[in-house]
Amino acid sequence: MKFANVEGVRVEPFSKAHGICPHCGGTVISKCGNVRVWHWAHKSKQHCDRWWEPETEWHRQWKNQFPSEWQEQGRCDESGELHVADVLTQHGLVLEFQHSAIKREEVEIRTNFHKNICWIVNGCRLASSLDQFNDALKWSTPLRSSGADVFQFPLSSSRLLNKWSGLNAPIVIDFGYETVWVIGQTVGNNVLVYPLKRDPFLEQLKLGNRPPPVQITQPKRTRVQLIRRRRGIGRRM
Ligand SMILES: [Zn+2]
Repeated sequence: MKFANVEGVRVEPFSKAHGICPHCGGTVISKCGNVRVWHWAHKSKQHCDRWWEPETEWHRQWKNQFPSEWQEQGRCDESGELHVADVLTQHGLVLEFQHSAIKREEVEIRTNFHKNICWIVNGCRLASSLDQFNDALKWSTPLRSSGADVFQFPLSSSRLLNKWSGLNAPIVIDFGYETVWVIGQTVGNNVLVYPLKRDPFLEQLKLGNRPPPVQITQPKRTRVQLIRRRRGIGRRM
């Protein structure tokens, strides 16, 4: 965890410190070494959120894009089960930053728990993911859409897309570039994917807006238009 309470103040870890977990009230100890990012660990060795996973610099860079009071917000369901959202915006949107491998079933459970959620997945965990995605992009089909360039990928062309497609929440893949990729609807054996610039994407998240679903615009070629075009009467669009 990035935050614990020390003398009543929510702070980041510092050397040889003890604090209180803001979620369960247990004692936490600062871990300020050279291998992992500095963090607070429960003295009991067991995190109060069983979904919690060790964080990387990638997690922290994403979290740091948002106000600290939005980061690591605990939420309970009706049964009292606690889970800590990586980020919970003031508009109620949960952001989960996923670096490590995770079973699809787990993603679905966590999506159902938070409901209004956007997953941001580290596409750089496996070096092969970006190469495979780029190869698939070359062979994808560009589609007409309103507001964004949409590409139709065969699901079999990218392990990452195959794994993360068809979920009931927007999934955004971060390959470490200025552009992130949003996984949209699955259509048969294909999935629709579109790019977003990172900064406007972040601004929308801060407003509580998830990436919009893909809107495909079918070309309107009516019989009349076709005839007029052949005769050279209509203006070229
Ligand atoms: Zn705790």
